[in-house]
Amino acid sequence: MTESYSVSLKKAVHVFSAGHFITLTDAICEAVHGHNWTVACSVSGVLGNHGMVIDFIFLRDTLSKIISQLDHCMLLPTENTFLQVTTQTERGQEEVLVTFGERRWVFPADECRLLPLANTTAELLAEWIGNELIHTLKRNNYSQTRNIRIEVDECFGQSASWENTAIME
Ligand SMILES: [Zn+2]
Repeated sequence: MTESYSVSLKKAVHVFSAGHFITLTDAICEAVHGHNWTVACSVSGVLGNHGMVIDFIFLRDTLSKIISQLDHCMLLPTENTFLQVTTQTERGQEEVLVTFGERRWVFPADECRLLPLANTTAELLAEWIGNELIHTLKRNNYSQTRNIRIEVDECFGQSASWENTAIME
């Protein structure tokens, strides 16, 4: 039997405020609105030489950096079949045009965060955050296999989660 340990972070600091809208069906798209998303994280695995799965402070700061990329942005998915997201220049200003059938929205480009997702649902935002975390762990030479779980809550008590076992070697 292999023993497994787990560390979890659910801290008030891990929150981001952003705008979004999602397609609910091929024909229905939400209106623009926002959430204060809170992000919780847990990492499971075997203990390292110093009795830790992962350094809490490193995990806390890494998660903060990842989340800050989403804070105070309009979150837009680039892989949605029904939403066309185009960056263009209009009167010298870079802007992002989004269309859904006859509907259209225009946002200042520097206030948008384009994400390679099919939709900006809590589930897919959790996956994006989790994959960013795995990339950072690999860049920082965290070896060993770890199970990573990210929970994204978009409205107190309404959350989605993503979980993946990352092979670090
Ligand atoms: Zn929403």
